[in-house]
Amino acid sequence: MKEILFVVENGCHICTSHGVNDSGYPIIYLGKKAERVSRYVFSKTFGYWPTRIVRHSCDCRRCINPNHLFEGSRRDNSADAVVRKRFPVGEKHWSTSLSDSDVLYIFKSKKDSKFLAKKYGVHRDTINNIKSGRTWSWITMNKPRTMRYGSGKFLLTGGDKLNASYALQL
Ligand SMILES: [Zn+2]
Repeated sequence: MKEILFVVENGCHICTSHGVNDSGYPIIYLGKKAERVSRYVFSKTFGYWPTRIVRHSCDCRRCINPNHLFEGSRRDNSADAVVRKRFPVGEKHWSTSLSDSDVLYIFKSKKDSKFLAKKYGVHRDTINNIKSGRTWSWITMNKPRTMRYGSGKFLLTGGDKLNASYALQL
């Protein structure tokens, strides 16, 4: 699989390795199927393939920062502008109902996944993936710079611009 590269601009991860489609979204080929890179990143980050459309809180179509991606319904589309205003661009991005500190708590917690899933209102798989380090490892295991996705990987070409606190949130 072709390596996914990006540069960091204002917190966005601007995909530089993959061409964009007519709508301006970077496209990756999974076998013969063309998919948006953002959807691919979403699936690898959150541990499941999005069943609904993946939207950007930052309104930048070339951005593949998982912290800027969230799943929404098509019906929500017309409300996009409202949503974006409600969720400010910057370090406070939301992507799932879990915050960075939630993820850390889950990772360190001795409680079982059923309990934690109920507490946070997420699927048990989400909890198990966090505990095993399959997802969110850049937070729980301090793996800020490179995320490996199967044979593909993220390479931070804009790494020089990062400070430590930001890198931890990638
Ligand atoms: Zn972004």
